[in-house]
Amino acid sequence: MKKADRNKTGIVFNVQKFSVNDGPGIRTVVFFKGCPLRCRWCSNPESQLPKIQILHDSKKCIHCLHCIQICPAKAITATEKTLHINSTLCTGCKTCAMQCPAKALETAGEVKSVNEIINTVIQDRVFYEESGGGITLSGGEFLTQPDFAEELLLAAKEENLHTCCETTGFARVEIFDRIIPYIDYVLFDMKH
Ligand code: SF4
Ligand code: SF4
Repeated sequence: MKKADRNKTGIVFNVQKFSVNDGPGIRTVVFFKGCPLRCRWCSNPESQLPKIQILHDSKKCIHCLHCIQICPAKAITATEKTLHINSTLCTGCKTCAMQCPAKALETAGEVKSVNEIINTVIQDRVFYEESGGGITLSGGEFLTQPDFAEELLLAAKEENLHTCCETTGFARVEIFDRIIPYIDYVLFDMKH
């Protein structure tokens, strides 16, 4: 088995510890950002865009329009009542979220390396060993970032972790064939 590239980065929107509903035992779930599907019942709609995203809370917003003035990409526009953030123009620089005086802007998603994630995951090794748990790759659809997923799974195997994934299977067969040897347990979400 080749050695994992632990410097490889991907976009994730959460790393959730102590999950008991995402595979056997106690697990840490890595939620990848990006999904090619747009299911109406999606439990994590903020995971769909395959990039860092800015979420606007209109209840907190005081409509000062500071964010519009400072956005280097000119991605924010205002109507009388709310703001619109053009996700195509937005580069995910986070300037607006950091400077909003009302904390009305939040980022969804961040770039993380395999090393950062694995270091978080192995903190709970004792719980995995007691419960038969491990790491779960979820999303979004984790197969949209196959290179990152492969390196993360390889690193997990190097750490002797049990690996699980939650997938819609919406990916090319070659990608599936590449990833599946590193996965011990598959939760397959059939979309009808
Ligand atoms: S900077 Fe914050 S409070 Fe001001 S308009 Fe933008 S989102 Fe609203
Ligand atoms: S994250 Fe950066 S580019 Fe995106 S809306 Fe905010 S300031 Fe503009």
